[in-house]
Amino acid sequence: MTFSWLPGQSELNLQQDLLDAAAFAAKHYAATLDARAVFPGQTALTALAVFDEPIPEDPCDPGIVLETLATHGGPATTASSGPNYYGFVTGGSLPIALAARWLGDAWDQNSALGRMSPIAAQLEQTVEHWVTDLLGLPKETLMGLVSGSSIAGLSALAAARSHLYAKAQWPFAEKGLQGAPPIHIYGPDSLHGSIDKALSLLGFGANQMHWLATDSEGRLLPSALPTLAPNAIVILQAGQVCTGAFDDFASIIPIVKAQGAWVHIDGAFGLWAAACDRTRHLMAGAGQADSWSVDAHKTLNVPYDCGLVLCRHPSALKSALTASGSYLDQSSIRNGMEMTPEMSRRARSVELWAALKFLGRSGVAGLIGHFCTLAAQLREHLRDGPYTLINEGGFNQVLVALDEDAQTNAALQCLQDAGRVWMSGATWQGRAVIRISISNWQTTDAHIDLLAAEMQRAARAVQPTPPTSP
Ligand SMILES: *Cc1c(COP(=O)(O)O)cnc(C)c1O
Repeated sequence: MTFSWLPGQSELNLQQDLLDAAAFAAKHYAATLDARAVFPGQTALTALAVFDEPIPEDPCDPGIVLETLATHGGPATTASSGPNYYGFVTGGSLPIALAARWLGDAWDQNSALGRMSPIAAQLEQTVEHWVTDLLGLPKETLMGLVSGSSIAGLSALAAARSHLYAKAQWPFAEKGLQGAPPIHIYGPDSLHGSIDKALSLLGFGANQMHWLATDSEGRLLPSALPTLAPNAIVILQAGQVCTGAFDDFASIIPIVKAQGAWVHIDGAFGLWAAACDRTRHLMAGAGQADSWSVDAHKTLNVPYDCGLVLCRHPSALKSALTASGSYLDQSSIRNGMEMTPEMSRRARSVELWAALKFLGRSGVAGLIGHFCTLAAQLREHLRDGPYTLINEGGFNQVLVALDEDAQTNAALQCLQDAGRVWMSGATWQGRAVIRISISNWQTTDAHIDLLAAEMQRAARAVQPTPPTSP
């Protein structure tokens, strides 16, 4: 290999060595994941200062580049792909998905057009059929592979807008939003923040958004549904980000569809419930929606980043997202860019296919069931206090609080500082809470025992000891 254009490094034969060195460092990292501090300590954070330098004037030995990353970068990661991480909703990465990702990275395919990467297009098509089948969605469902549920939601809502304007005979392609008939958006007041962002990117303001009353789990109360304005979009959730609750699709969707609404379901981590016998009932009626968004990087444990937009109206999704150009060859079996906001895109289908091929139907069900079993075990550990279990716990989320907000926040801080487990907090319906999300394939009963013990220790540390009776 020659780098004739690189001053001082014209003769290097490093590709193999560099990949070996990276693999060595990565294998070491993966093997020590369980034992790592879940959040980096102060020493590692302070050492990040080595990256704070001006742009180098001259090339650097690539071995040193890699070594700098491994030495100072690795220790400043959160061990979020390990079994003791319960923050946000963060999936691990299945070994086969990670391995396939490595190979795919070496292929370095652009999956914008089928002509640019036949393998990426083929795997995308295969995965589209598999996911549609696994989740019980209509056969005609089209899938786009994006960075996550934020962009999946944005894509689906753009499709909804296209569809509603076409139905209202508004020439959106010519006139855009100027003078367009209003679109009104309805949903539970507990929707994920990415939805507001997507709606504002699409040109909607708060006056068009109607966030409706919910129950203690954040589920839309069917009684709170008003008569919808014309041109309505209704957004529901499969897996509320704190409680893990699912809206009552079977009751709500027929009512709003009868009024001509487009229904989108944000199922970032919860949509996979449809693939497991134990949890499928939570998704009853969800197949009647018009579009769905779901992540592969959360509950499915595919490495970041990988999200799916699914839409039963192929022409609506394509009309919202297709770009044209005389140099773009549209002749191949599948052009991923027609179903996504991006044009150039890495081939996410590689690791997604690998994960699904490895797991199969029963493996996906097993993974989802495993998370639910562990969540139930944690609830059992915590049943006798001092934490109050805030949510009903139908899925992989456990939401708890101590009696007073200050104690809850202090306990969370204590847990995070100890570094043996990590989870995040939130305010839920006015109350400070600790959110525990069980979404990593490596988490076992023993990790849940450790988690429960850590939580009890934190509670004791922050609560005044009860007076002993004389
Ligand atoms: C995580 C999440 C999102 C956003 O997904 P990203 O993959 O982070 O873009 C949207 N909705 C819900 C319910 C989520 O949990």
